[in-house]
Amino acid sequence: MDFRADGAAALEWAARYLERVDELPVLAQVKPGELSARLPESAPEQPETFADVLRDLDELIVPALTNWQSPRFFSYFATTSSEPAILAELLAAAMNQVAIVWRASPASTELELRVADWVRQLLGLPDGWHGHIEDTASTSTLAALITARHVTGRNVVVCSEHAHSSVEKDARMLGMELRKQPVDAELRMIVPERVDDVACVVATVGTTSFASVDPVRELAAAAHAAGAWLHVDAAYAGSSWICEEERWSQDGVELADSLVVNPHKWLLVPSDCSLVWTSRPDEWREAFTLTPEYLRSDDEAFSLADFGPPLGRRFRSLKLWATLRVYGAEGLRAILREHIRLAGLFAGWVEDSDEWELVAPRRFSLVVFRWNGTDEENEQILARVNASGEIFITQTKLDGRYVLRLAIGNARTTEEHVRRAWDVLNREAKR
Ligand code: PLP
Repeated sequence: MDFRADGAAALEWAARYLERVDELPVLAQVKPGELSARLPESAPEQPETFADVLRDLDELIVPALTNWQSPRFFSYFATTSSEPAILAELLAAAMNQVAIVWRASPASTELELRVADWVRQLLGLPDGWHGHIEDTASTSTLAALITARHVTGRNVVVCSEHAHSSVEKDARMLGMELRKQPVDAELRMIVPERVDDVACVVATVGTTSFASVDPVRELAAAAHAAGAWLHVDAAYAGSSWICEEERWSQDGVELADSLVVNPHKWLLVPSDCSLVWTSRPDEWREAFTLTPEYLRSDDEAFSLADFGPPLGRRFRSLKLWATLRVYGAEGLRAILREHIRLAGLFAGWVEDSDEWELVAPRRFSLVVFRWNGTDEENEQILARVNASGEIFITQTKLDGRYVLRLAIGNARTTEEHVRRAWDVLNREAKR
């Protein structure tokens, strides 16, 4: 292939995709298996051109995309893959740094540590914490549970009934017992009376369903009094701490033994990029260090493989570095503040309406609401709204009731898009 010419065409494709993503349906309008039926069953024997690949992107792949880059994507936690990060991903692949030990990539190892520390400072977290990048919050929390078990010699995990399912999955994979705690009226985890046999208490700041905030300070006190580890899952909401006014939700986080925040959720970095910090780096490292002969070297330098499950690590810090530099902290704060403002606006429309109700207080950029009708009616509204391709939202359950979630997190989302979401919801509710 002609790397320069094909590369220019690929970049042009990416630019054009981003320009027209607002015109594409948000939720993929295909049926399961539809793409598979159009894909060749085997790889080609003879070489094809890169232009063939780009052509098939348009013909085969784009129709099967759910467009996470759409400004009308309000599902799960909406995200943004920023332009500097997209280019950095290309460059990272070009350099293909596999940072298994320091000398295998001094650049990736040292940039990752520095960028993790930049974000630590931007979020107002304590000095001296070690931070690095894992692929996902699921892996970051897995690493925290492994360390907690290593340190305490115990096998029990406690979290809120609204904690993310990754906590349960991680505990299951590790053969650890999971205890789910009930929540109070504000959907905050009730502090368990006894945690003497617990390895890890997982507190969530910004739960997936409702963005509720557990009482981290009280949970830290209970965990530490009993010799347990406190892990904080702020995968979504933690990014909001770049704005000082959102740090109310950080109360007690300075006491955490570990913390996860996902820049791939709300800091404009494409998946995957999960930051995990620990205030107890020596014990964390002890849980993972294992150096076979073939990885030994004389430099005795730092290896990030000693801090988590995988050996090979890709150059994830590059996209975070590029994003932080090209936007600057002020640029990022402005985007997050706008998302929070837009969520407040939407929540206000819901509150002012007799036909809809808020089912939980609006927190960060998430609004949880429902049509004043039956669960079936709400389910049908959601199905019609998503089938329209105009917006994409998801549902959850609160006390057995079916409720709708609108999450704002794409940098291209404007007030006009949020207004359109409100119009589409009202139109489909009244149909
Ligand atoms: N924790 C919370 C609070 C989440 O909302 C999510 C995903 O939405 C996760 C963890 C899992 O994130 P990941 O996909 O990075 O594993």
